[in-house]
Amino acid sequence: MREKFWEHFKTVTYHRHLVRQGCFKVGLYRQGLLHDLSKYSPTEFLVGAKYYQGNRSPNNAEREATGLSRSWLHHKGRNKHHFEYWIDYTLDRDELLGGMKMPVRYVVEMFIDRIAACRTYQKEKYTDASPWEYHKRSIRVGKLLHEDSRMLLERLLKMLAAEGEEATFAYIRKLLRRERRREFREKLRLCRNCMERKH
Ligand SMILES: [Zn+2]
Repeated sequence: MREKFWEHFKTVTYHRHLVRQGCFKVGLYRQGLLHDLSKYSPTEFLVGAKYYQGNRSPNNAEREATGLSRSWLHHKGRNKHHFEYWIDYTLDRDELLGGMKMPVRYVVEMFIDRIAACRTYQKEKYTDASPWEYHKRSIRVGKLLHEDSRMLLERLLKMLAAEGEEATFAYIRKLLRRERRREFREKLRLCRNCMERKH
């Protein structure tokens, strides 16, 4: 058990290191520092150590053993780079739950998370095309990932496969700058509306 505890600690810490590097390259410093921090909380860490296997997520092993993964439920409720965080009641009468549109910066963090996971599992076999190949094989999310967010994620994964990291990260920096300007204008507009109402 002690060995698994240590192995799991190293896996989480190394994963966070890879994601931090990626996030810093695109200017997402806060997200880079906070990524997956909840994995060190007792609810997540003890499950991770107990079911540590090295080649797949311990959450699956917990699910098989107990019928549900408390560790994953804890994780997805606190980490905005998972589309599961954004599942909520829809306004569509035919559907009960669906994926809400994710802010661009969390789609970007999800993209960087995928790269890090593929690097870890595929080691020297990893290429810039690996994350896109993996994504193509695992499309099971349906409407749980918002259409716009899925399109953005896929655009980034395809760009990485075709043009490499440097070009894709440069594109992301531009995208995030545009998004920040848009958010700023939106806040300004709300502020103005508010002021006008006061007069
Ligand atoms: Zn995570």
